[in-house]
Amino acid sequence: MYKIYKFGGASLRNASGFRNVASILDKNRDQNILLIISALGKTTNELEEVVNRYFFRKGNAARYLEKIKQDHYQILRDLFQDQNQNVFNEVNNAFVEIDWILEDEPHDSYDYLYDQIVSIGEMASSKMVAAYLNQCSMPAAWVDVRDCIRTDNNYREGRVDWEITEGNIIKNIPPLSGNQFVVTQGFIGGSAENFTTTLGREGSDYSAAIFGYALNAGSVTIWKDVEGVLTADPKYFPDAGIISRLSYYEAMEMAYYGASVIHPKTIKPLQNKKIPLWVRGFHTPEKEGTLITEAGEITYPPVIVLKHNQILLSFYPKDFSFIAEDNLSHIFIILSGQRIKVNLMQNSALSFSICTDLTEKVAPAIAELKNSFAVLTNEDLELLTIRHYTQDLINRYSEEKEILLEQRSRQTVQFVMKKQTKSERKPH
Ligand code: ASP
Ligand code: MG
Repeated sequence: MYKIYKFGGASLRNASGFRNVASILDKNRDQNILLIISALGKTTNELEEVVNRYFFRKGNAARYLEKIKQDHYQILRDLFQDQNQNVFNEVNNAFVEIDWILEDEPHDSYDYLYDQIVSIGEMASSKMVAAYLNQCSMPAAWVDVRDCIRTDNNYREGRVDWEITEGNIIKNIPPLSGNQFVVTQGFIGGSAENFTTTLGREGSDYSAAIFGYALNAGSVTIWKDVEGVLTADPKYFPDAGIISRLSYYEAMEMAYYGASVIHPKTIKPLQNKKIPLWVRGFHTPEKEGTLITEAGEITYPPVIVLKHNQILLSFYPKDFSFIAEDNLSHIFIILSGQRIKVNLMQNSALSFSICTDLTEKVAPAIAELKNSFAVLTNEDLELLTIRHYTQDLINRYSEEKEILLEQRSRQTVQFVMKKQTKSERKPH
């Protein structure tokens, strides 16, 4: 039975990251492991910058790309003594595809070009991992994920065709052989027309779940820079601790509220086949991390999720009508047209409010909504969610805060509040 391991950019930032990954794999040689690899370090962000420079003709895209290439070559030189090693060519060939795009004017849509350019990060990193494992006498076969994961051509957020994908994966992943690793790319898929698509930022976890599902894997492990799933972000809540067991349900809830557990789409496919999901730390491979399964009764500690950079939008119908179903459906058509994700919503008789991430999508949505509504905005907000709250925690976090909106259910309380500085925040 295959096991799926996903290694993200943070685990492959430099040569010592590669060595660490290899040492983790070395201890699991007796397993049949399929590796899902993301782009190295911050490569995806950097390739996004290349896309933006090229598409909006702002700054020198080729020069920026050169820096990304050099970072990859530096790691290659650190890992491989023999510079005639074929992997140098392979990585170079991957980047040449971007060179070719940059030579022409940007005629195609932004989203299409984005996927063709940004996906090269994973093409390069996965080649490097496969070559490095082979050099370490850990035989590794490289598979092009575009022959496996089929999506529609909704670029930047490809929707998976599960039936075709399952068949492709079974066909293209080598049969279990006992002593060979299989290496493929996260984040990427391919369309029916053979174009590269991506599954959305941070989508490699989802890729791992897709392979886990199709191969009926024994387990899926996401290797992260933290020891497992935490009760809160330790950057803001120093007492945050590891949760050792979670149900799929709880993990989905946490991901939904914005905990950076795992990509939200990851869990459902695994739950459907009851495939255990591990979240483990690549710095602490001796520790078990977090196990996510169907799990019955678990008593959870309070879990805190703080979302930054929020905006609260309140809509008042211009015709002084009440907020009713027709108004609401109108609002949601516009929001979904702009792909705005509502983090929290609330209505009253004369207004409807939503809290969402403040991204570039918000302004065009507001412009459209202003045709029918007076729109009130509040910026510089945070959305605090506490699952399994206690009154004590609510007191601690809502005291002396300017709270604009509050919502409470049996398990979850949420506050939309004015942003605080770190020094104002009391320790958890
Ligand atoms: N490299 C992609 C990103 O940074 C996908 C991933 O890491 O999951 O978004
Ligand atoms: Mg990443």
